[in-house]
Amino acid sequence: MSIKINKNRCPQNHPCPAIRFCPTGALTQKGFSAPEVDNSKCIDCGRCLRVCAFGVFSKN
Ligand code: SF4
Repeated sequence: MSIKINKNRCPQNHPCPAIRFCPTGALTQKGFSAPEVDNSKCIDCGRCLRVCAFGVFSKN
């Protein structure tokens, strides 16, 4: 499993709230752009899916 990011769903106008909930530092964001995931760090905990109100995150 890995995390997929649908950038089209992200309004890209705020700090991504999922970043501080990710326990492994797998999520990063440049400015207010859509977040990016390093799937080599992801442990598939699913927290980002629950935090994001826009449904940007999904599981592959
Ligand atoms: S599933 Fe968990 S470890 Fe993976 S990116 Fe989301 S919050 Fe981070």
